[in-house]
Formats: sequence, structure tokens, C-alpha cells
Amino acid sequence: MEVRVRLSDAHNTIKEYENLGYRFIGSRQDIEYVNLFFEPKENNVTDIKFNIGDFIENRDGRIGYISDICHCDECKKRGFFEPTIQYSDGTSDYISNYSVKYVSKDYKQIGTQKFDNDYYEKEIERLKHQLEMEKSKSAYWKMKANGEEPVLMGTRERMIHILR
Ligand SMILES: [Zn+2]
Repeated sequence: MEVRVRLSDAHNTIKEYENLGYRFIGSRQDIEYVNLFFEPKENNVTDIKFNIGDFIENRDGRIGYISDICHCDECKKRGFFEPTIQYSDGTSDYISNYSVKYVSKDYKQIGTQKFDNDYYEKEIERLKHQLEMEKSKSAYWKMKANGEEPVLMGTRERMIHILR
């Protein structure tokens, strides 16, 4: 697994991932950023630990605990024992061998394991930004096509950047 962070965050990131059960195996650095490489300590579906009674908070802020862990033959075959989650609002859910791959994005905390999961928020921000760029570009070319001199919304430098 590869994680890209600012140089100044490298030390803390390595610590965080080691706390989550990953082993730091190397890095590649450029001017401002460094790519950190990790591998799971155990070769299993996941290295995240699930215990009955573990506190759970999902990324929407719902709170509950692990009420059961399945040990049926199907789970054994898949190599992952499915935890059942009982939420405080009375609903329940479970983590399958498929959804466990997204645990660090779907949950804020499981037991003592905390996850940085503003992944979706970051992705949405990136897409919004991309959409704005596309809009600016098409507005510019439309005006050009109509023989108008486009009035730039930002600085000329920004427009040049957009058109690149
Ligand atoms: Zn099962």
C-alpha cells in the first residue's frame, strides 16, 4: 500500500499506520511530498481487528458496538469472520469479506482503531473543482466562437492555467 503525504507529516503517518497494524517498508521522496510504502503485518483479508463488544462509529456518525462475530464454514472459507454491528438506534448491520476492504473509509472507529476517512469529502471537492474548470473552459470557447473577447473571471494567469 502506498500513502502520499507532505514531508512534515511523514513521521506521524508512519506511526499512525503502524498503530493500525501495517509495517513501514520504504519511501520515495520528491521536493514537498513523500510516498510511504506499507504492507499488512498479517496476510489475511484484513489486518483490522474485530472483537465482540468493540465500539463502532460509522462515517455518518452512527454509534454502536460489535454484538457478534460469525464463525460459520462459509466465513472460514472466505477467510473473514463477519462481525455483526448493533447500532444504538436499534438497527444492525454486518461487515462482509467484501465490505471489509472499505472499512477504513466507511467507519471512523472500530474498537481502538481510528480511521482517517474524509476520503469521500476529498473526492467530492476534487470533482467539484474539476467541474468548475470544465465550465470555465467551455464558457471561454463559446465566447471565442461568438467573436467576443472573453472577460476573464479571474486573473489572466488563472485563465491560462485553466486552458492548459
Ligand atoms: Zn458466517
